[in-house]
Amino acid sequence: MNLRVPGPTPLPPEVLQAEAKPMINHRSKDFAQIQNRVVARLKESFQTANDLLLLTGSGTGAMEAAVVNTLSPGDRVLAVSIGNFGDRFADIAATFGAEVVRLTFGPGEHADPDAVRTALAQDPTLTAVLVTHNETSTGVTNPLEDIAGVVREFDKLLIVDGISSVGSIEIKTDAWGLDVVVSGSQKGWMAPPGLSMITMSERAWAAYRQAQMPRFYWDVGKAKKSLERGETPWTPAVSVVYALDAGLELLSQEGFANVYARHARLAAMTRQGIKDLGLKLVAQEERYASNTVTAVWAPEGIEERAIRSTLRQEFDIELAGGQGELTGKIFRIGHLGYVSEADLQAVLDALRVVLPRVGFSGAGAAGARG
Ligand SMILES: *Cc1c(COP(=O)(O)O)cnc(C)c1O
Repeated sequence: MNLRVPGPTPLPPEVLQAEAKPMINHRSKDFAQIQNRVVARLKESFQTANDLLLLTGSGTGAMEAAVVNTLSPGDRVLAVSIGNFGDRFADIAATFGAEVVRLTFGPGEHADPDAVRTALAQDPTLTAVLVTHNETSTGVTNPLEDIAGVVREFDKLLIVDGISSVGSIEIKTDAWGLDVVVSGSQKGWMAPPGLSMITMSERAWAAYRQAQMPRFYWDVGKAKKSLERGETPWTPAVSVVYALDAGLELLSQEGFANVYARHARLAAMTRQGIKDLGLKLVAQEERYASNTVTAVWAPEGIEERAIRSTLRQEFDIELAGGQGELTGKIFRIGHLGYVSEADLQAVLDALRVVLPRVGFSGAGAAGARG
């Protein structure tokens, strides 16, 4: 199957083999060696000298860890949201008792750094900012460096969901002053679901020592202590650690600069192909369009599910639908991790056949609509 959703991604044979290796004691030198290698390589790709901890759980678990380890009930937090995953970050903080001030942008918009500045200037009681680097639900990448610059002006804690960006789209954790960054193994890492990662700056550790939200499984202090022995506080997803190790080996061989360039190239090719078919991107400004996922409006009057089910049944291609308020209105093409030009050409070629069949007359050779 050509699995083209924004995680989980297809896996290279080397990773599938690694995942099938026999179990070892997770409190052994052998495990410590693998985890230490994985963490060192992850730090390289996050471009950080901060602590980086491997957690067992999906990306949302790391988002929850980011919140409960740095905030207290009653803290006022600015949640910048351009879509479903930004909303989720806000919801997690609210669930644990933060007073969430929402700064929300419409579908396909990026977060405007000036609006972040205005929000922070208006409310000096805000203590932290939550922001999504790459909003997977709309296919938009936020100008994180600029947003971080604004947050640094106000010296607030900056907590970043980099789940679908880090490893595929360059992020400079230390240079940009990002305090907490999280990612998940099934996105750009050529690995299966089951692990997440979290970085903690000095400022984040200072917040940790004050934070009063309840935490146990996600306590990053326990994870840091264990990591000093190459261990984890609880039984980790050992097979996924093997697989992530193998995925990182492949990414390192390719070189992260080349990995980012490959994602940029494939995303540009996908967007061009979509526009050539007469379809419209959800991203309102193409310079903010994501390099890991392309979100596309279903043509007026066409059921997007019909497009996806025909692709699945006749071409063995699996795309993602919309989330939240975009359900039924958009479809999304994942192009992250183990992905090549041929994988995306197959999607574009199949769409060219399928669109006229579901009633879209503007497709392809028939002439694009403006
Ligand atoms: C996938 C994703 C998540 C959720 O991760 P899970 O692993 O499904 O819990 C959160 N944020 C972003 C930006 C994502 O792409």
